[in-house]
Amino acid sequence: SNQLMAGKRGLIMGLANDKSIAWGIAKACADAGAELAFSYQGDALLKRVGPLAAQLGSDMVIPCDVGDEASIDALFAEIEKAWGKIDFVVHAIGFSDKNELRGRYVDTTRGNFAMSMDISVYSFTAVVQRAEKIMNPGGSCLTLTYYGAEKVMPHYNVMGVAKAALEASVKYLAEDLGKDGIRVNAISAGPIKTLAASGIGDFRYIMKWNEYNSPLRRNVTTEDVGKSALYLLSDLGSGVTGENLHVDAGYHVVGMKAVDAPDM
Ligand code: NAD
Repeated sequence: SNQLMAGKRGLIMGLANDKSIAWGIAKACADAGAELAFSYQGDALLKRVGPLAAQLGSDMVIPCDVGDEASIDALFAEIEKAWGKIDFVVHAIGFSDKNELRGRYVDTTRGNFAMSMDISVYSFTAVVQRAEKIMNPGGSCLTLTYYGAEKVMPHYNVMGVAKAALEASVKYLAEDLGKDGIRVNAISAGPIKTLAASGIGDFRYIMKWNEYNSPLRRNVTTEDVGKSALYLLSDLGSGVTGENLHVDAGYHVVGMKAVDAPDM
């Protein structure tokens, strides 16, 4: 444990269960002394999210569907009422129809394209829009993205297009909020077996491929992502904004592995 986040208050969005990337980030922040609030989507998740929040000393567990403007407003109103100001926001939310996370991108429907962009891209802008109004200077906003934004990955399809738009929006948001001393960044995480990931076709094969082909010859964990998030959310990242930090065991730098690589 360290005190990198002592005196800081932050909102974690996208916790579903203890496999969630949001959980790895929340644990790292709490361990560093942060005070946390959580938002969750839908009543069914409360029985999971409530006890997890309590485990980190938080009783601020607030519903929010990011597809609904009024729901986002209500979340931030409640946070402002309780705390006044906040220091950081983590957006670990994405969604697409899983029937379109297999097969060909070209078959994407207009309806699912719009919905995936709304929930997985616009929601971060909508959240930052509200957070800006109550965020202290030195504040930090973070979202989660994936390499499928940069290169074609099997089955990622419309989510790859959505993540590309999300990564572009991180840069525009960084410019807009920079003058208030607020930073906006993304972490591009390697594949991790979570609820959301289980909707992606051949996910086990993708995990194996990453394990064999990344420089570290392993997959990353939610703890790995949590530690890097701590860097971007704390004062350690004070000079970093508009960045997309790859926490992927180095996978994104490899063009091709040698046939006689020591472990192949
Ligand atoms: P997860 O299923 O644990 O979390 C996804 C969360 O999104 C859930 O808590 C869900 O409730 C929430 N969500 C979906 N629609 C919502 C809505 N309308 N309103 C509010 N919340 C909503 O899975 P995860 O893998 O931890 O996903 C977190 C983020 O990390 C996502 O953006 C995902 O794309 C990204 N990511 C995941 C991986 C991976 O391999 N797991 C890799 C890179 C990036």
